[in-house]
Amino acid sequence: MAVLVVADNDNAHLRDTTHKTVTAALALSSDVDVLVLGQGADAVAAAAGKIDGVRKVILAESADLGHGIAEAICDTIVGLAGGYDAVLVPATSAGKNFAPRVAARLDASPISDVIEVVSSDTFVRPIYAGNALETVQTADKTKVLTVRPTAFKAAGEGGSAAVEKVAGASASKTRFQSEEMVKSDRPELTAAKIVVSGGRAMGSAEEFQKVIEPLADKLGAAVGASRAAVDAGYAPNDYQVGQTGKVVAPALYIAIGISGAIQHLAGMKDSKVIVAINKDADAPIFQVADYGIVGDYKTVVPELMAALG
Ligand SMILES: Cc1cc2nc3c(=O)[nH]c(=O)nc-3n(C[C@H](O)[C@H](O)[C@H](O)COP(=O)(O)OP(=O)(O)OC[C@H]3O[C@@H](n4cnc5c(N)ncnc54)[C@H](O)[C@@H]3O)c2cc1C
Repeated sequence: MAVLVVADNDNAHLRDTTHKTVTAALALSSDVDVLVLGQGADAVAAAAGKIDGVRKVILAESADLGHGIAEAICDTIVGLAGGYDAVLVPATSAGKNFAPRVAARLDASPISDVIEVVSSDTFVRPIYAGNALETVQTADKTKVLTVRPTAFKAAGEGGSAAVEKVAGASASKTRFQSEEMVKSDRPELTAAKIVVSGGRAMGSAEEFQKVIEPLADKLGAAVGASRAAVDAGYAPNDYQVGQTGKVVAPALYIAIGISGAIQHLAGMKDSKVIVAINKDADAPIFQVADYGIVGDYKTVVPELMAALG
């Protein structure tokens, strides 16, 4: 059995979601290749070759791949898929964009958000916002899985797999126009070791910036938010943590003025240590919190900032 892992990268850096997806792939087979899609991505391919257990790296480049155009990504993967029994994609926003398309073209039923590999055809995935786990078995000739990176340890680095270059596809129906990249000195939300999140209690975008962001900066943390905070315009969309936002599992998650609705918990309950600050002692967030502070964030957060120096 051979497995193809699609690397998560930005043409310059390989994200460690790839290392985690390789761990899932190695539970399926020892024949694991990594496909790097991009442009000018030689450094990414070299980094992928260092991941432990990788047999070969395939580097496919084109301008459209460099811009992450799903049509080109899909055509490239489908062109290579004949040599593989499974295609594994990190369950990121990008991966969730093209994986269903790849599955449709391969006449496979995609299995999303895999958190455990039971055997070469059986996988565990969360359903109902993480309140139940479903075990699914597939008879598809080529399995297409998205892998939840937070559920797997990152594969180590000690490998020396060779890089093979293949032609990358271009899109025929989609044309790249422009892109706006968010520039931030903070760590990326899904990869951060510490996340500080704010909820509806902030009451305004100004308050969110005044309370959440300085604490995050002090801790070198990423900033997250509840959907209520995002919907109210206190924080940008890409800060949302939860069932319909990002799934995070940092070493430390600090929830400030967040009630702990199941849809929010679905995105953060696997964090190693959870700290909740909420003035309502009965808020559900305290059921998952390792440390809870019942109090007004307007007094607790300044005290925390002072204690951090
Ligand atoms: C299909 C679906 C998908 C969803 N997806 C998501 C998702 O991905 N992510 C998500 O977050 N939600 C999601 N939701 C929404 C979710 O159900 C909740 O409505 C939302 O999480 C509530 O956000 P909140 O905790 O910030 O607000 P609230 O529930 O209003 O909680 C605010 C909390 O702040 C506390 N508070 C108020 N003032 C203070 C103060 N001064 N100091 C300290 N504490 C204070 C209150 O006691 C309260 O507990 C989804 C809902 C649906 C139906």
